[in-house]
Amino acid sequence: MTDLFKNIFIITFFFMISFSANAQNVTSPEEFFGFRMGEDRKLAEWVKLVEYYNLVDEQSDRIKVVNMGATEMGYPFLALYISTPENLARLDEIKAYNDKLVDPRGISMSEIDEAVENSVAIVVQSFGIHSNEVAAPQTAAETVHDMLTRNDEDMMRILNETLSIFIPAFNPDGQKMVVDWYNINVGTEYETSPLPWLYHKYIGHDTNRDAFATNMVSSKYGAEILFTEWNPQSYIDHHQMGAYSARLYVPPYAEPIRPAGDPLVWREMDWYGAHIAQDEEINGKTGVINGAYYTGWGHFGFH
Ligand SMILES: [Zn+2]
Repeated sequence: MTDLFKNIFIITFFFMISFSANAQNVTSPEEFFGFRMGEDRKLAEWVKLVEYYNLVDEQSDRIKVVNMGATEMGYPFLALYISTPENLARLDEIKAYNDKLVDPRGISMSEIDEAVENSVAIVVQSFGIHSNEVAAPQTAAETVHDMLTRNDEDMMRILNETLSIFIPAFNPDGQKMVVDWYNINVGTEYETSPLPWLYHKYIGHDTNRDAFATNMVSSKYGAEILFTEWNPQSYIDHHQMGAYSARLYVPPYAEPIRPAGDPLVWREMDWYGAHIAQDEEINGKTGVINGAYYTGWGHFGFH
C-alpha cells in the first residue's frame, strides 16, 4: 500500500501473542533461523522459509504444505493448509460443502443447512505481496508456529471451526531479492537503502494491481485459491505500514465506500475489524487504526 522502504518491524497480527505449548515438538522459527522473527536487523529469506515450512509439515499433523508450482524466477509458491488433523483429512468434503455455499443456485435449503452445520469457515491470509514490506512474511512463520503448538481454548476453537489457508509469501521472488539486498548491506552505511531495482521480474510494486488481470504466475496461484478453488468466507491480506502513519491498520475501510458492493459485506467488515482491533487493544498494542486512511473506493487488489 505504500512504496516507502521500511526497516521498522511492525507486527501485523494479533496471533503473535504466543502461548506456545509445544505439545508436538514443532521447531520454532527462532530455533530454526537462530533469531526470533521480527528481531532487529534479521530477516529470513524465502528458500530457508520454504525449508522451515516443509520441516514443520513433517513434525505436525495440523498443517499440510502444498507447493503450487514455480514463480517467474523458479522459487516455490506455497499454500499452507492449517486446521485440526480431522479437518485436514476431509479437505475434499469441506470443499464440496463450501462449493454449495459459494454458489447455492439449484440447491435446497436443507442441503445448505447441512453444509453450514458440517463444514468449517474458510479463512485465507496472504503475506508480503509488497516485498519491501518485510514484516509480513516473517510474521507468517511465527503465526504458523503458534497455530501448530498452541492448545488454549481460543486456538482450539479456531482450528476446529476454520480451515486456514496461508499464502506465506505472495511474491516469493521479491521477498528473496529484498532480503538478499538487505543482508548485503546490513551493518554498513547503506543498510536502509532500498532495493535499486523492481522487486518483481516484470511488475514490481504492482503485484496487487495485477489481481484483476492475473498476468503473473503468483497472481494466478492466488486467484486459484481465492476465486476458483476455495472462495473463502474471510480474507486478510497482510501488508506493513510505513514509518510515518498508524502502526496497525485493520478493517474496515474508510468512507466513501463503493455503493455497488452489498451493504452486508461492508457491515460484516465492520464487525470483523472491530474484533481484530479489540483483541489488539486488549493485548496492549498501540497505534491501531481502522475506518481511516484507505477508503472503500480504492482498488482492492485481491480483496
Ligand atoms: Zn503493501
